[in-house]
Amino acid sequence: MESNAMWAKVLKLKYGTRQRINARDESKLPRSPIWRGLKKGEQVFKEGMKWIPGHDTSNLKVKDVISPHGWLWSAIPFVLPPEIKESIQAVPFPIAARNVDKLAWKGSPKCVFSSKGAYRLATQPSKANVFPGVWIWKICTLPKIQMFIWKCMHNSVGVRACLVERGLHIPLDCPLCHTEPETISHALRDCKFVKPIWQQLGQIRGNQGFYSQGIKDWLASNAKAKASCIADGVPWNIVFPFALWLIWNQRNQVVFNQKSPNPCLTKLIKMQATEFFLCINCPKGNRRMVIRQIRWEKPASGWLKLNTDGSFDDLLGNAGGSGLIRNEQEDWVAGYTRKVGKANSFVAEAWALRDGLMLCNQMNLSNVIVELDAKALVDALNNPDFNNSVISPLFDDCKQLAAQIPQIVFRHIYHEANSCANQLANVGRLQSLDFILYTVPPVDLVPFIVADSQGLYSERLCLDSLSSC
Ligand SMILES: [Zn+2]
Repeated sequence: MESNAMWAKVLKLKYGTRQRINARDESKLPRSPIWRGLKKGEQVFKEGMKWIPGHDTSNLKVKDVISPHGWLWSAIPFVLPPEIKESIQAVPFPIAARNVDKLAWKGSPKCVFSSKGAYRLATQPSKANVFPGVWIWKICTLPKIQMFIWKCMHNSVGVRACLVERGLHIPLDCPLCHTEPETISHALRDCKFVKPIWQQLGQIRGNQGFYSQGIKDWLASNAKAKASCIADGVPWNIVFPFALWLIWNQRNQVVFNQKSPNPCLTKLIKMQATEFFLCINCPKGNRRMVIRQIRWEKPASGWLKLNTDGSFDDLLGNAGGSGLIRNEQEDWVAGYTRKVGKANSFVAEAWALRDGLMLCNQMNLSNVIVELDAKALVDALNNPDFNNSVISPLFDDCKQLAAQIPQIVFRHIYHEANSCANQLANVGRLQSLDFILYTVPPVDLVPFIVADSQGLYSERLCLDSLSSC
């Protein structure tokens, strides 16, 4: 990756000698501590390394099997299994930029080497030993409740089942109902003195598995519930941890201090959760949201507008891309769909954008507004320090192709204003051909184009820009 750096040259000249390469036992030859360290990391380096194809490569000859519209399958002399074909199909390769092959690092999502990623790879814990509760430290609640949930996840709460497991000779039955063993899930959820509290809190109606889940899944699925699950105006992921904590405290008061159960416990839970939500919760709660009317806007006079989008199916893991160009009269100029293959949405967005910019170049367009709803991609295009080896072949192309268009503007828009490109991208994901160019709009797209021309609005809940000051 830094083969021309001074340090690499020094090491190569010092240790890449014929004598060393041919030595029977290289490890016995004199060496500096730095080289000894490098040799130690060699195995991890080999595991973490991968190649990102360039254009003029010496061995692979990617350029022989690609065309501006994708991989030339006919140039490959054998039939690839569909799974592998879809994975190859999504591998970004450069067309405009003349990149050479480069080494990349598998240990990070952006394939950029970091010692952190190498350390993780070198110390890779077996999956069985990974604690499934890292989420605890991310949930929004009081630290003491986080600690309590952490203890529950480790079976380290003083319920009788846990104490017996640790060798204490005490009765196992629940000290409140005396009908079942007091496990953590019994004390916090299943005991007949606790069940009514959960019912009053109102989560049960929408959650069929509430009483049947194992303790770890139960804690995780409720504490991590989406913020849109509301119980009496407060998100369920805020109410749930407070409920756990107060139920546990009440159980201790009744068992050890002979107090009678608080008949208003449900009310207390709701009160404390609401107070936390309104006063202590992250500043997000204070930001004002406003409803905005969003629509596609036609380009200004003398300009053309390119809308691009990517589509990704979470379940199947396949992706597609698309784009369309319209003029100031809102007329269709051109459009395209692409089957991207096995890729994520970011890669699909980048494929779609490159196709669009290539089309603009082929058509010699000079004033282009490019709109896409992938904010990450727009930010990356505007950031000169952006570094992501995975999509660099597409990304470098995009930059180079954009530089060839005399006037070009990139804009991020909400996806509500990008519905035509979005519809087309779904077509791209499902099509069998790699790339399709449309000189007239596909029939299924016509209603969406008409809606755009009529200036129909969609409503969207947006952050009020005034409230952030
Ligand atoms: Zn009980």
